[in-house]
Amino acid sequence: MSVARVHLVGAGPGDPGLMTARALELIARADVILFDKLIPDTALDGARADAELIDVGKIGGGKQVPQDVTTALLLEHARAGREVVRLKGGDPFVFGRGGEEAEALAAEDIPFTVVPGVTAGVAAPAYAGIPVTQRNVSSAVAFVTGHENPDKPETAIDWPALAGFPGTLVFYMGVRALPRIAEQLIAAGRRADESAAIVERGTMGDQRTVTATLETIAARAAAEAVRAPSITVIGDVAALHDEIAWLPERPLLGRTVAVTRARAQASALAARLRALGATVVETPSIRIEPLAVTVPDLAAYDLVCVTSPNGATRLLEEVRDARALAGPRIAAIGPGTARALAEGGIVADIVPPRAVAESLLQALAGERVDRVLIARAQEARDLLPDGLRERGAEVDILALYRTEAEPLDEAARAAVLGAEYLTFASASAARLTHAAAGTLAGPRIVSIGPVTSAALVELGFPPDVEATEHTPDGLVAALVADATA
Ligand code: SAH
Repeated sequence: MSVARVHLVGAGPGDPGLMTARALELIARADVILFDKLIPDTALDGARADAELIDVGKIGGGKQVPQDVTTALLLEHARAGREVVRLKGGDPFVFGRGGEEAEALAAEDIPFTVVPGVTAGVAAPAYAGIPVTQRNVSSAVAFVTGHENPDKPETAIDWPALAGFPGTLVFYMGVRALPRIAEQLIAAGRRADESAAIVERGTMGDQRTVTATLETIAARAAAEAVRAPSITVIGDVAALHDEIAWLPERPLLGRTVAVTRARAQASALAARLRALGATVVETPSIRIEPLAVTVPDLAAYDLVCVTSPNGATRLLEEVRDARALAGPRIAAIGPGTARALAEGGIVADIVPPRAVAESLLQALAGERVDRVLIARAQEARDLLPDGLRERGAEVDILALYRTEAEPLDEAARAAVLGAEYLTFASASAARLTHAAAGTLAGPRIVSIGPVTSAALVELGFPPDVEATEHTPDGLVAALVADATA
């Protein structure tokens, strides 16, 4: 059998951290990705820039693409010899229609693999402090789905069997179905005072849990305006929520924050914001364009300054053999830059206390530097080279990459400008986002520090908030302070 080029992949329930290593690997490699609505909003970040991304969750923001169309697309791309990832929320074989797609592939003799995912029915309760099984409480669990529409005469659910099931019932169904579920179960003999819980948007930043009893859960859900997607747990394990709920306080719950970043670049900032409860809109308004360079003989320098994480990554790519960096001292502006260097086994000798060029110049005051190489982006401030030249150093600049504005489509633009907060971690991010969106009007603007703020002022959008500590953590702290003020 030839090597499988189609993969039915589970993307997990929503928290990007719950995607499997295998899923990320396949996404990074795929030529084509057919994806559903309920996947983590960062799930496609690692896709190749030239990969074809097809949303089969909806047609033009409207209704779901019919299953036979999705299956036909899958077969068509597979036959064309492309490497295809079919990405689904949760697990592909748990109410995901993955089995049907597998059958279609098997019938056509197209080799495929299946990558299980973390299913919402286990993960959402877990994030709410509800173990779906528990010694002495519940030693079985049933996953259930059925028609959402109570008007449909036929029902796929055997209510008496479920009512008699000796364990936890986990429903993958909308809240609309809830009154009917509870009614039918009680009518079929399930205890009305059994514990129950609904977990809305499980594992996502704005997850919510509502607990009650089987008899009262529907009314409680309606009173709390619980919405889809949600998982309903019926069983005494639901009562454990009060005891073992573990998700930390989330000061940014219900807040929308737009983060600008390069496509395919992991964003620790977005992850931090999500962990605090924010709904994060990530805008791929910036593209990192590597520049072709020839790295000079580094032994000729007594200091190499690296001014950004991208610069560090690019430098390490170009240098290839880390021994070339053994001679000069290395200065890194910002802890993220130092971290990126450390990933390549290079420990920076100098990391100035503040992540700005001024701070590096201060840190170097009184030291003798003769020949300096500055590894950085093409477009950058001249403060560092000028400051070093003033002290008599001979300075060379190695421009390793260029950042470019990536035009935003209408939906992306609306999402950014409709966010409550818009964060900038660099002056170039501010300029490029302004170029990509045409304006920065709408959100409250949070700047990482004075250099970024100056760029924002120049663009006509002075920041509403400026971080006191010029790092991503500092930016988050400033945003939280503003949001909770
Ligand atoms: N294959 C998916 C389930 C698809 S069915 C899985 O394994 O998780 C879709 C239903 O799953 C939704 O209607 C909702 O009931 C549930 N669901 C999916 N993601 C969810 C989430 N993050 N929180 C709560 N429920 C979720």
